[in-house]
Amino acid sequence: MIDLRSDTVTTPDEEMREAARNADIGDDVYGEDPTVNELEDRAAELVNKEAALYVPSGTMGNQIAARVHTDRGQEVLADRKSHVVKYELGGFAQHADLQVRMLDAGPRGVPTAERVASACVEEDLHRPGTGLLCLENTHNARGGLAISPERIERAAEAARERDVAVHLDGARVFNAVTALEVPTTAITDHADSVMFCLSKGLGAPVGSMLAGSAEFVERARRVRKLFGGGMRQAGIIANPGLCALENVSDLEADHENARVLADGLDGIGGLEVAEPETNIVIADVSELASDVESVIDRLRENEVGATPFGPTTIRFCTHRSVTRDDIERAVGRVTQALA
Ligand SMILES: *Cc1c(COP(=O)(O)O)cnc(C)c1O
Repeated sequence: MIDLRSDTVTTPDEEMREAARNADIGDDVYGEDPTVNELEDRAAELVNKEAALYVPSGTMGNQIAARVHTDRGQEVLADRKSHVVKYELGGFAQHADLQVRMLDAGPRGVPTAERVASACVEEDLHRPGTGLLCLENTHNARGGLAISPERIERAAEAARERDVAVHLDGARVFNAVTALEVPTTAITDHADSVMFCLSKGLGAPVGSMLAGSAEFVERARRVRKLFGGGMRQAGIIANPGLCALENVSDLEADHENARVLADGLDGIGGLEVAEPETNIVIADVSELASDVESVIDRLRENEVGATPFGPTTIRFCTHRSVTRDDIERAVGRVTQALA
Protein backbone atom coordinates (compact mmCIF):
# COMPACT_ATOMS: atom_id res chain seq x y z
CA MET A 1 0.00 0.00 0.00
CA ILE A 2 1.29 3.45 -0.89
CA ASP A 3 -0.39 5.23 1.96
CA LEU A 4 -1.17 8.84 1.06
CA ARG A 5 -4.15 9.20 3.41
CA SER A 6 -2.26 11.48 5.77
CA ASP A 7 1.18 12.63 6.88
CA THR A 8 0.36 11.10 10.27
CA VAL A 9 1.01 7.58 8.93
CA THR A 10 4.80 7.97 9.03
CA THR A 11 6.54 5.43 11.22
CA PRO A 12 9.60 6.30 13.31
CA ASP A 13 12.95 5.62 11.68
CA GLU A 14 15.85 3.79 13.33
CA GLU A 15 17.26 7.00 14.76
CA MET A 16 13.97 7.75 16.49
CA ARG A 17 13.66 4.21 17.82
CA GLU A 18 17.18 4.45 19.24
CA ALA A 19 16.34 7.82 20.74
CA ALA A 20 13.29 6.31 22.44
CA ARG A 21 15.39 3.47 23.82
CA ASN A 22 18.15 5.74 25.09
CA ALA A 23 16.12 8.66 26.43
CA ASP A 24 16.93 10.15 29.82
CA ILE A 25 13.65 10.02 31.66
CA GLY A 26 11.91 11.07 34.85
CA ASP A 27 8.38 11.82 36.00
CA ASP A 28 7.24 14.70 33.83
CA VAL A 29 4.21 15.47 36.00
CA TYR A 30 6.80 16.40 38.63
CA GLY A 31 8.68 18.34 35.94
CA GLU A 32 11.54 15.84 36.26
CA ASP A 33 11.84 14.43 32.77
CA PRO A 34 14.99 16.04 31.33
CA THR A 35 14.13 15.02 27.77
CA VAL A 36 10.66 16.55 27.89
CA ASN A 37 12.16 19.69 29.42
CA GLU A 38 14.69 19.88 26.61
CA LEU A 39 12.01 19.38 23.99
CA GLU A 40 9.86 22.11 25.53
CA ASP A 41 12.79 24.54 25.63
CA ARG A 42 13.76 23.76 22.08
CA ALA A 43 10.18 24.12 20.81
CA ALA A 44 9.72 27.47 22.56
CA GLU A 45 12.91 28.74 20.98
CA LEU A 46 11.88 27.61 17.49
CA VAL A 47 8.67 29.62 17.55
CA ASN A 48 10.10 32.48 19.63
CA LYS A 49 7.89 32.08 22.70
CA GLU A 50 8.89 32.15 26.36
CA ALA A 51 7.82 28.57 27.02
CA ALA A 52 6.24 25.48 25.53
CA LEU A 53 4.32 22.44 26.70
CA TYR A 54 4.49 18.90 25.34
CA VAL A 55 0.98 17.58 24.70
CA PRO A 56 -0.22 14.17 23.49
CA SER A 57 -1.96 15.54 20.39
CA GLY A 58 -2.56 18.62 18.32
CA THR A 59 -6.21 18.49 19.24
CA MET A 60 -5.39 18.65 22.93
CA GLY A 61 -3.03 21.56 22.27
CA ASN A 62 -5.74 23.55 20.51
CA GLN A 63 -8.32 22.74 23.15
CA ILE A 64 -6.02 23.72 26.01
CA ALA A 65 -5.19 26.98 24.26
CA ALA A 66 -8.86 27.89 23.88
CA ARG A 67 -9.53 27.08 27.51
CA VAL A 68 -6.63 29.18 28.77
CA HIS A 69 -7.24 32.22 26.56
CA THR A 70 -10.95 32.60 27.22
CA ASP A 71 -13.60 33.02 29.86
CA ARG A 72 -16.61 30.75 30.00
CA GLY A 73 -19.34 31.75 27.57
CA GLN A 74 -17.20 33.87 25.28
CA GLU A 75 -17.08 33.62 21.52
CA VAL A 76 -14.19 32.20 19.56
CA LEU A 77 -13.68 33.17 15.93
CA ALA A 78 -12.62 30.46 13.52
CA ASP A 79 -12.84 29.70 9.82
CA ARG A 80 -15.77 27.44 8.97
CA LYS A 81 -13.30 25.06 7.31
CA SER A 82 -10.75 25.09 10.13
CA HIS A 83 -9.66 21.95 11.96
CA VAL A 84 -10.94 23.30 15.28
CA VAL A 85 -14.41 23.66 13.77
CA LYS A 86 -14.56 20.57 11.57
CA TYR A 87 -12.53 17.89 13.27
CA GLU A 88 -12.35 18.43 17.02
CA LEU A 89 -15.81 17.19 18.01
CA GLY A 90 -17.02 20.66 18.88
CA GLY A 91 -14.53 20.56 21.72
CA PHE A 92 -14.57 24.30 22.34
CA ALA A 93 -18.14 23.94 23.59
CA GLN A 94 -17.34 20.85 25.63
CA HIS A 95 -14.00 21.84 27.13
CA ALA A 96 -14.19 25.59 27.44
CA ASP A 97 -17.90 26.53 27.30
CA LEU A 98 -17.31 28.63 24.22
CA GLN A 99 -19.57 29.60 21.38
CA VAL A 100 -17.89 29.44 17.98
CA ARG A 101 -18.59 32.27 15.59
CA MET A 102 -17.64 30.88 12.24
CA LEU A 103 -15.98 33.09 9.67
CA ASP A 104 -15.44 32.39 6.03
CA ALA A 105 -11.70 32.74 5.66
CA GLY A 106 -12.07 32.76 1.89
CA PRO A 107 -9.85 31.16 -0.73
CA ARG A 108 -6.58 32.28 0.95
CA GLY A 109 -7.53 30.57 4.20
CA VAL A 110 -7.27 33.61 6.45
CA PRO A 111 -9.92 36.21 7.21
CA THR A 112 -9.24 39.82 6.25
CA ALA A 113 -8.81 42.41 8.98
CA GLU A 114 -12.25 43.82 8.11
CA ARG A 115 -13.84 40.41 8.49
CA VAL A 116 -12.21 39.84 11.85
CA ALA A 117 -13.17 43.33 13.00
CA SER A 118 -16.80 42.91 12.06
CA ALA A 119 -17.02 39.47 13.68
CA CYS A 120 -15.65 40.59 17.05
CA VAL A 121 -18.36 41.38 19.56
CA GLU A 122 -17.80 43.58 22.55
CA GLU A 123 -19.11 42.31 25.85
CA ASP A 124 -22.26 44.04 27.12
CA LEU A 125 -25.51 43.08 28.80
CA HIS A 126 -26.57 41.00 25.79
CA ARG A 127 -23.36 39.82 24.18
CA PRO A 128 -20.72 37.47 25.54
CA GLY A 129 -17.67 39.17 24.09
CA THR A 130 -15.03 37.63 21.83
CA GLY A 131 -12.17 35.90 23.61
CA LEU A 132 -10.10 34.31 20.87
CA LEU A 133 -9.29 34.25 17.18
CA CYS A 134 -8.01 30.91 15.82
CA LEU A 135 -5.95 30.89 12.65
CA GLU A 136 -4.60 27.81 10.85
CA ASN A 137 -1.37 27.55 8.83
CA THR A 138 -0.98 25.57 6.65
CA HIS A 139 -4.70 25.41 6.10
CA ASN A 140 -5.59 21.75 5.77
CA ALA A 141 -9.17 21.77 4.48
CA ARG A 142 -8.43 24.56 2.03
CA GLY A 143 -5.77 22.42 0.39
CA GLY A 144 -2.64 22.81 2.50
CA LEU A 145 -2.37 26.53 1.79
CA ALA A 146 0.74 28.28 3.08
CA ILE A 147 -0.52 31.59 4.43
CA SER A 148 1.87 34.52 4.26
CA PRO A 149 3.11 36.36 7.35
CA GLU A 150 1.49 39.57 6.06
CA ARG A 151 -1.98 38.05 5.90
CA ILE A 152 -1.57 36.43 9.31
CA GLU A 153 -0.39 39.74 10.71
CA ARG A 154 -3.37 41.70 9.35
CA ALA A 155 -5.90 39.26 10.79
CA ALA A 156 -4.07 38.99 14.11
CA GLU A 157 -3.69 42.74 14.50
CA ALA A 158 -7.42 43.26 13.96
CA ALA A 159 -8.05 40.88 16.86
CA ARG A 160 -5.32 42.24 19.12
CA GLU A 161 -6.59 45.82 18.69
CA ARG A 162 -9.79 44.57 20.29
CA ASP A 163 -8.00 42.72 23.10
CA VAL A 164 -8.83 39.39 21.51
CA ALA A 165 -6.10 36.77 21.87
CA VAL A 166 -4.78 34.94 18.80
CA HIS A 167 -4.05 31.22 18.68
CA LEU A 168 -2.31 29.67 15.70
CA ASP A 169 -3.18 26.08 14.86
CA GLY A 170 0.18 25.45 13.26
CA ALA A 171 -0.14 21.67 13.05
CA ARG A 172 1.87 22.03 9.81
CA VAL A 173 3.44 25.44 10.37
CA PHE A 174 6.85 24.16 9.22
CA ASN A 175 5.33 23.18 5.91
CA ALA A 176 4.15 26.79 5.60
CA VAL A 177 7.53 28.34 6.38
CA THR A 178 9.24 25.87 4.06
CA ALA A 179 6.93 26.75 1.17
CA LEU A 180 7.10 30.49 1.82
CA GLU A 181 10.84 30.51 2.55
CA VAL A 182 10.37 32.75 5.58
CA PRO A 183 11.67 32.37 9.14
CA THR A 184 9.23 30.51 11.40
CA THR A 185 9.02 33.52 13.67
CA ALA A 186 7.72 35.70 10.82
CA ILE A 187 4.50 33.73 11.24
CA THR A 188 4.52 32.76 14.91
CA ASP A 189 5.34 36.25 16.20
CA HIS A 190 1.80 37.34 15.33
CA ALA A 191 0.12 34.76 17.57
CA ASP A 192 -0.11 34.69 21.36
CA SER A 193 0.05 30.92 21.28
CA VAL A 194 1.11 28.36 18.72
CA MET A 195 0.43 24.65 18.45
CA PHE A 196 2.49 22.51 16.11
CA CYS A 197 2.56 18.76 15.54
CA LEU A 198 5.64 16.57 15.78
CA SER A 199 3.61 13.58 14.60
CA LYS A 200 2.84 14.75 11.06
CA GLY A 201 5.40 15.57 8.40
CA LEU A 202 8.22 15.69 10.94
CA GLY A 203 7.74 11.99 11.55
CA ALA A 204 7.55 11.57 15.34
CA PRO A 205 5.31 8.77 16.57
CA VAL A 206 3.43 10.94 19.09
CA GLY A 207 3.00 14.46 20.28
CA SER A 208 2.53 18.13 19.66
CA MET A 209 3.83 21.33 21.22
CA LEU A 210 1.88 24.28 22.59
CA ALA A 211 3.92 27.45 23.00
CA GLY A 212 3.24 30.90 24.40
CA SER A 213 4.18 33.25 27.22
CA ALA A 214 5.51 31.75 30.45
CA GLU A 215 2.26 32.65 32.18
CA PHE A 216 0.18 31.08 29.41
CA VAL A 217 2.18 27.84 29.56
CA GLU A 218 1.94 27.68 33.34
CA ARG A 219 -1.84 27.82 33.06
CA ALA A 220 -1.79 25.42 30.10
CA ARG A 221 0.12 22.89 32.21
CA ARG A 222 -2.71 22.82 34.75
CA VAL A 223 -5.32 22.45 32.01
CA ARG A 224 -3.32 19.63 30.44
CA LYS A 225 -3.51 17.82 33.79
CA LEU A 226 -7.23 18.53 33.96
CA PHE A 227 -7.72 17.06 30.48
CA GLY A 228 -5.82 13.92 31.46
CA GLY A 229 -2.74 14.79 29.43
CA GLY A 230 -0.17 14.73 32.22
CA MET A 231 2.31 12.03 31.21
CA ARG A 232 4.94 10.36 33.36
CA GLN A 233 8.19 9.05 31.78
CA ALA A 234 7.31 10.85 28.57
CA GLY A 235 10.95 11.27 27.56
CA ILE A 236 10.53 7.91 25.78
CA ILE A 237 8.27 9.61 23.25
CA ALA A 238 9.72 13.12 23.59
CA ASN A 239 13.18 12.06 22.46
CA PRO A 240 11.92 10.98 19.01
CA GLY A 241 10.19 14.38 19.05
CA LEU A 242 13.60 16.05 19.39
CA CYS A 243 14.74 14.05 16.35
CA ALA A 244 11.62 15.26 14.52
CA LEU A 245 12.66 18.89 15.00
CA GLU A 246 15.73 18.09 12.90
CA ASN A 247 13.49 17.01 10.01
CA VAL A 248 12.11 20.42 9.06
CA SER A 249 14.54 20.72 6.18
CA ASP A 250 13.18 17.49 4.65
CA LEU A 251 9.71 18.97 4.15
CA GLU A 252 10.72 20.54 0.85
CA ALA A 253 11.10 17.00 -0.57
CA ASP A 254 7.50 16.25 0.45
CA HIS A 255 6.36 19.43 -1.32
CA GLU A 256 8.26 18.48 -4.45
CA ASN A 257 6.68 15.02 -4.31
CA ALA A 258 3.27 16.65 -3.94
CA ARG A 259 3.86 18.71 -7.10
CA VAL A 260 4.93 15.60 -9.02
CA LEU A 261 1.88 13.73 -7.73
CA ALA A 262 -0.50 16.58 -8.59
CA ASP A 263 0.94 16.86 -12.05
CA GLY A 264 0.61 13.12 -12.65
CA LEU A 265 -2.94 12.95 -11.27
CA ASP A 266 -4.05 15.99 -13.25
CA GLY A 267 -3.07 14.12 -16.41
CA ILE A 268 -5.57 11.33 -15.62
CA GLY A 269 -8.94 11.67 -17.35
CA GLY A 270 -11.70 12.75 -14.96
CA LEU A 271 -9.40 14.17 -12.27
CA GLU A 272 -8.91 17.87 -11.75
CA VAL A 273 -5.96 18.75 -9.53
CA ALA A 274 -4.67 22.20 -8.66
CA GLU A 275 -0.97 22.82 -8.07
CA PRO A 276 -0.30 22.17 -4.37
CA GLU A 277 1.42 24.77 -2.17
CA THR A 278 2.70 22.23 0.37
CA ASN A 279 2.28 18.47 0.93
CA ILE A 280 -1.48 18.26 0.47
CA VAL A 281 -2.97 17.43 -2.93
CA ILE A 282 -6.69 17.79 -3.52
CA ALA A 283 -8.21 15.98 -6.49
CA ASP A 284 -11.67 16.86 -7.73
CA VAL A 285 -13.41 13.75 -9.03
CA SER A 286 -16.69 15.34 -10.15
CA GLU A 287 -15.98 14.50 -13.81
CA LEU A 288 -15.85 10.80 -12.98
CA ALA A 289 -19.00 8.71 -13.14
CA SER A 290 -18.52 7.39 -9.60
CA ASP A 291 -18.75 9.04 -6.19
CA VAL A 292 -15.91 9.80 -3.80
CA GLU A 293 -16.32 6.67 -1.68
CA SER A 294 -16.18 4.31 -4.63
CA VAL A 295 -13.15 6.13 -6.04
CA ILE A 296 -11.42 5.67 -2.67
CA ASP A 297 -12.39 1.97 -2.72
CA ARG A 298 -10.96 1.50 -6.20
CA LEU A 299 -7.75 3.22 -5.17
CA ARG A 300 -7.49 0.99 -2.13
CA GLU A 301 -7.98 -2.12 -4.29
CA ASN A 302 -5.01 -0.84 -6.29
CA GLU A 303 -2.94 -0.29 -3.15
CA VAL A 304 -3.13 3.49 -2.94
CA GLY A 305 -4.50 5.12 0.21
CA ALA A 306 -6.34 8.46 -0.06
CA THR A 307 -8.93 10.25 2.10
CA PRO A 308 -12.43 11.45 1.19
CA PHE A 309 -12.32 15.21 1.64
CA GLY A 310 -15.55 16.73 0.37
CA PRO A 311 -18.60 15.90 -1.73
CA THR A 312 -16.42 15.68 -4.87
CA THR A 313 -12.86 15.81 -3.58
CA ILE A 314 -10.25 13.44 -2.22
CA ARG A 315 -7.02 14.27 -0.42
CA PHE A 316 -3.57 12.82 -0.97
CA CYS A 317 -0.83 13.71 1.46
CA THR A 318 2.90 13.26 0.86
CA HIS A 319 5.22 12.52 3.76
CA ARG A 320 8.65 11.20 4.68
CA SER A 321 7.62 7.53 4.48
CA VAL A 322 6.95 7.78 0.72
CA THR A 323 9.67 8.23 -1.88
CA ARG A 324 9.64 9.77 -5.36
CA ASP A 325 9.45 6.23 -6.75
CA ASP A 326 6.37 5.56 -4.62
CA ILE A 327 4.79 8.75 -5.97
CA GLU A 328 5.42 7.72 -9.56
CA ARG A 329 4.08 4.24 -8.86
CA ALA A 330 1.03 5.75 -7.17
CA VAL A 331 0.21 7.78 -10.31
CA GLY A 332 0.38 4.57 -12.34
CA ARG A 333 -1.88 2.74 -9.90
CA VAL A 334 -4.44 5.55 -9.84
CA THR A 335 -4.46 5.57 -13.64
CA GLN A 336 -5.13 1.83 -13.59
CA ALA A 337 -7.76 2.13 -10.84
CA LEU A 338 -9.78 4.69 -12.80
CA ALA A 339 -9.34 3.16 -16.27
C1 LIG B 1 -3.87 17.10 12.50
C2 LIG B 1 -4.32 18.46 12.81
C3 LIG B 1 -4.64 18.84 14.12
C4 LIG B 1 -4.73 17.86 15.27
O1 LIG B 1 -3.66 17.07 15.50
P1 LIG B 1 -3.84 15.62 16.18
O2 LIG B 1 -2.50 15.34 16.71
O3 LIG B 1 -4.29 14.71 15.10
O4 LIG B 1 -4.88 15.76 17.26
C5 LIG B 1 -5.00 20.15 14.34
N1 LIG B 1 -5.03 21.03 13.35
C6 LIG B 1 -4.73 20.72 12.07
C7 LIG B 1 -4.76 21.77 11.02
C8 LIG B 1 -4.38 19.41 11.76
O5 LIG B 1 -4.11 19.09 10.49
